[in-house]
Formats: sequence, structure tokens, C-alpha cells
Amino acid sequence: MKRLVLKFGGTSVGSIEKIKNVANIIKEEFSKGREIIVIVSAMSGVTNDLKKKSNLISENFDDKELDVLLSSGEQVSCSLLAGALIDLGLKARSWLGWQIPIVTNINYNSSQILKIKTEEVSKFISNQGVAVIAGFQGISFENRITTLGRGGSDLSAVALAKFFKADSCEIFTDVDGVLTTDPSINNKAKKIDKISYEEMLEMASLGAKVMQPSAVQASMIDDILIHVRSTFSKKPGTKIISENDIDYKKTVTGIAYSKNNAKISLVGVVDKPGVAADVFEPIGSNNINIDMVIQNTSLDGKTANITFTIKQEELKKTLNIIEKNKKKINYQKITHDGRLAKVSIIGAGMITSPGVTHMMFRSLANEKINILAISTSEIKISVLIEENLTQRAVKVLHEAFGLN
Ligand code: ASP
Ligand code: MG
Repeated sequence: MKRLVLKFGGTSVGSIEKIKNVANIIKEEFSKGREIIVIVSAMSGVTNDLKKKSNLISENFDDKELDVLLSSGEQVSCSLLAGALIDLGLKARSWLGWQIPIVTNINYNSSQILKIKTEEVSKFISNQGVAVIAGFQGISFENRITTLGRGGSDLSAVALAKFFKADSCEIFTDVDGVLTTDPSINNKAKKIDKISYEEMLEMASLGAKVMQPSAVQASMIDDILIHVRSTFSKKPGTKIISENDIDYKKTVTGIAYSKNNAKISLVGVVDKPGVAADVFEPIGSNNINIDMVIQNTSLDGKTANITFTIKQEELKKTLNIIEKNKKKINYQKITHDGRLAKVSIIGAGMITSPGVTHMMFRSLANEKINILAISTSEIKISVLIEENLTQRAVKVLHEAFGLN
């Protein structure tokens, strides 16, 4: 018998009406004679509200208590959905993370799943029951509630698909699948039929919000086939699969962006071994992620400039760290800019097509969009630009690479 993991995101269970709709979708799948494990997110907006409440208590709200708080949203949605299924005449029951248990490490607020006990749920679904499991949460070996990072019910779904050896993992969301770009800034965005794990990981990490990056990574490691599809239509969505099963007709598969980037430039740092390490060591040890880095070659052999990017919300903290380490880092001048965006083109087809870089830069130049920094990998090129030019950049690149 086919075993399915069906995951419903926050917008899919965002109201009582929508929960009833989801219950009907599940009933339909069940009537095809399948074993079904359902994962749910909290109703949309709930986790954000809970987070805000914690901030009203304290900006440094205890991280273990935060997980108890944030995980409560999924308790509400999974019980409501299980109740809706029972009301439709199905045998159903809810499980919270700790009841299964879904065991994680003690990395509170963004834990990794270590193991999932399967006996009880397996028995239930093989006896015609529909299991409804709260996403986003687990329990640590310290016997405390954990959560898997924002958007973490995707990771719950992938992990459950793995441990229960599901035939398919269906991620139900409010769009038709993975789109070539964000439809809210470009109405020419199209659904992608198939995308590789690697491309999807880049898309998700570079700003596409359909799936949590760590969930994509987990699916890639264990080769879990993912189907991202709409809760509100029956159309097939996007299959996330191994690269070998895709033939690349297009060089670029999709365009992603993230706003809220900041850039810091250190002008006139001494050009000698160990300087870059001195700059980034204190920043890294304060848990701030550096994204792009550029160091220009020094003309006089004495000083160079180092520019790097971070998230906007970490700008102040980073500037403070640099100031504190001023003696050691030793620069002439520091400048910063907090309103930047990173726009990226992603596609495994790039590996075999020369000229992509120049085409990207030329298209942006034609729109008078200035590039402030660049970073590349085999399957992506990212540029840093002024935040208010994001939409224009996305539109022009979407057209230039034949995605319209
Ligand atoms: N409710 C959690 C969040 O908003 C988990 C999820 O939706 O995947 O981040
Ligand atoms: Mg989500």
C-alpha cells in the first residue's frame, strides 16, 4: 500500500474553512486506499504573534521557553484538523512531537532531528487511521520541547517521510508550486515542473520562501522525492528530484532575491597575511553570518579594502564589534550601507552555458542598475544592488533568461 506524507503550511490551515477544506483533501487521498501521515504548521500568523509576545516580555526571552511557546501554534492546528477528519467520519488522531517522540538535539530554536520512533503511528495508519502530527516541534534528550527553526514543519515532513519510508512527500502550500520567481513582484512568474535538490537549495537559501532550506538539504541527503503543490487547486505542482532525472533546456531555472542586506567596507587595511582572519574572527565568534566578501587587490602593495555583507538587522552589532576590535583590525576608514538587496539567478544549466555572467550584468546595466558586489557558484550568480531596484532587476532578468 502506498504511504504518503502530506504537509499543510500555515496559509493552508489559516482559517476554520481552510482546515475543513484540508480535511476533504485528506479524505479524498485516504479513499484511494493510502496510508496517510499528515503534518501541519500553525495557522498563518500565529507563530509570529507568539514571537512578538515573547519580545514584549524580554528582548532576550529564554530560548527553551521560546520553544515551548512557539510550538503551541501547531498544537492548535493539528487538533483542529484531527477533529475535522473525525467529523468527516474518518479514524484520526493528533500527535505532538514529544508523544511520538521526535527526538532532536539541544540546539533550541533550530534543532536537528536525530530520530523518530515509528511503532505507534505505523500501527495506527496500518489500521485505517489518519495520523495528524504537529510540525516544527520535537523533544530533546533533556526532556524539553524543541523547535526546528522558522518554517520548520517542512523539515518535520521530510524527516517523517524518511523515517516512515513514505513513497512521496507532498508539501501543500498557497502557490502552484515552486515558481520561477516571486509572483508578488513579477506577475510573469511561472511554475517550474521539475527542479533539482541543488537548485532548490540555492533558491530556498537565496530567498525563495516556498520551502525551508534545511528541509531541502535533508531531502537531498536522503533522496526524498518532494512534490510542492497548491492546496487550492488540483494541478500538479513542482517535483524536487535528483539532478540526473532532469534535462536542462534553460540555462536559468529561477530568480530569487532577499532584501535586508547590509554592506560594510573597511578602507585601508594593511595588506598582509592574517588581516582578513582578524576582521572576520570576532564577527564569526559573535554568531554573525558573513555572506559576500570582496577584497580588492592593493595597488601599492601596502593597503587594501575589504567589503562584506551581512543581514541588515545585524549591522549595528557588527559595527560595534569592529569598533571594539579597532586596534587589532587597523583600518583607515569604515563605511556602511543598510538598504541593499541580493538578486540571484539559479540554474544547473549554467554549468554548460558560457556567457551567462555577461548576459546578467548587461541586462542590469541596460536598466542602469549598479552592481555593488558579486558572488558565484557553479549553479548561481548573485549580485548586490540597491534595495529599491529589486523589482526592476528581477523583472529584467526574468525576461532576459527566457522565463517570461
Ligand atoms: N509555524 C512555524 C513557523 O511559522 C513552522 C512552519 O510554519 O513551518 O515558522
Ligand atoms: Mg512554510
